[in-house]
Amino acid sequence: MENLNKTFDVIVVGAGTGGSIAARFTTEKGLSVCLIDSKEKKEIGNKICGDAVGTDIFDFLNIKHPRDDELSCKIKGAKLYTPNLKKCIDLTDPRQAGYIVNRVEFGQRLLNEALDAGIEHFYDKTMALDLIYDQNTVSGVKVKLSNGEKAELHSKLLIDASGYYSPLRKKLKSTLVEKEVLKEDSILCYREIVKFSPQDIKINDPDYISIILNQEKAPGGYIWYFPKNESSLNIGLGAFMDLKGKVKELYQQNVFKEFIKTSKYKILSSGGGVVSIRRPLWSCTDNGIMFVGDAACQVNPLHGGGIDPSMRGGFFAANTALNAIEKGDYSVDTLWNYNYEVMTSFGAEFASLDLLRMTLQILSNEDLNFALQQDLLSGEEILEISSTGEFELPLISLVSKAIKGISKPNLLLDLNYLRIRMNEISRHYKNFPLTIEKFEEWKSRAIQVYDKILRMLINAKKVK
Ligand SMILES: Cc1cc2nc3c(=O)[nH]c(=O)nc-3n(C[C@H](O)[C@H](O)[C@H](O)COP(=O)(O)OP(=O)(O)OC[C@H]3O[C@@H](n4cnc5c(N)ncnc54)[C@H](O)[C@@H]3O)c2cc1C
Repeated sequence: MENLNKTFDVIVVGAGTGGSIAARFTTEKGLSVCLIDSKEKKEIGNKICGDAVGTDIFDFLNIKHPRDDELSCKIKGAKLYTPNLKKCIDLTDPRQAGYIVNRVEFGQRLLNEALDAGIEHFYDKTMALDLIYDQNTVSGVKVKLSNGEKAELHSKLLIDASGYYSPLRKKLKSTLVEKEVLKEDSILCYREIVKFSPQDIKINDPDYISIILNQEKAPGGYIWYFPKNESSLNIGLGAFMDLKGKVKELYQQNVFKEFIKTSKYKILSSGGGVVSIRRPLWSCTDNGIMFVGDAACQVNPLHGGGIDPSMRGGFFAANTALNAIEKGDYSVDTLWNYNYEVMTSFGAEFASLDLLRMTLQILSNEDLNFALQQDLLSGEEILEISSTGEFELPLISLVSKAIKGISKPNLLLDLNYLRIRMNEISRHYKNFPLTIEKFEEWKSRAIQVYDKILRMLINAKKVK
């Protein structure tokens, strides 16, 4: 096995949205960085995706917003449809505005900006295989290089941004970071980018992304209809992992046939993918290593959006890396600040949305139609929840909901109980411990909140 002698400050595995941002910001802070990706350079960014990203992350990171070839179209907001399509909830809000990007061009831009920052080594077509340990601290990565040879790359810190299937997480020595993501906490997707003549198909609401809830057509997930421009769409669906082998069929039947009513079309891209829909990993760091993006389950559990949080995660990891390098301490105690940043920001929101996602997944089409048509969950509340993970209800709204929901008292009670628990978990995450010592106690209290919702869901299923 080839031994490359240099010890980098940081090795970043994976040059997707999370890894490119982590590599760029660690480099800009003056650290020596090695970035590797299993894909060939020109393929980086080419990912099966809905291609939607909000505007906020670009302001947060103070980087260029997508434009020119990167930008397919601008989006004002989202439209959420009930299963019977009788109600469309308009989610227009500056917080929901965003872009549909050309994924390859976008990915290439993020990568090139990282390379331009001065990354010391970039190895494409290089596959991370295993972790190298120095006693109990990760100190590098074993890789297969583009020429097929195996090599060892050494680092003070490793950032794993290798996506949902992260092979490195499974090689960790300690149990602090979960090795597996449960299939109940993941969604299987299938999507196509379809081009047609604007004379044949007119795009509905070209300034909005449309989401259709339907437990029969997309069980456990949803159907999406995202405009790219006046003559192409990104359409797809997500469903329970158990539907492996059937998802493409569901897509063809319930999405393609529904929306592509012409024989003159061209499929520009098609394929499936998996995304986690849970709170971030309990711990996104361990001795000598931080996990970013899909590798750390940093994905919005409600809609599966992971571009923004992976970039945020990459940025937080870069800040923590600088601090650790300055201190010369790569232990989990020093890296804990990364967990703190994640859990008290989007982690709090995702923990809360995870509870909502679990509840929505067991509701029938009838319940969804009822809850949304009767405004048991209104557009404003959905906006509030999806951007903060919390929502308070003034007494007057509670009374008005109670009147509207009188014919489904159990559903009403469950939704109110859910609201209380969502607020509870969000606050709990915002009180994430600053040091690892109090973590186990914090975690067991978080599990108690999850257990309460699980019990509610078991009871709700029994009643049905
Ligand atoms: C069908 C679908 C639709 C989606 N739609 C949206 C959407 O509209 N909006 C949104 O925000 N999110 C969406 N997501 C989620 C989003 O794509 C991800 O959350 C986001 O891309 C995560 O970025 P990442 O950098 O963590 O991982 P990735 O983008 O997966 O990047 C991982 C990188 O690591 C590399 N790699 C993998 N293994 C290794 C290895 N062993 N060694 C070296 N390199 C490796 C890969 O080549 C890749 O370049 C969707 C996901 C799916 C599956």
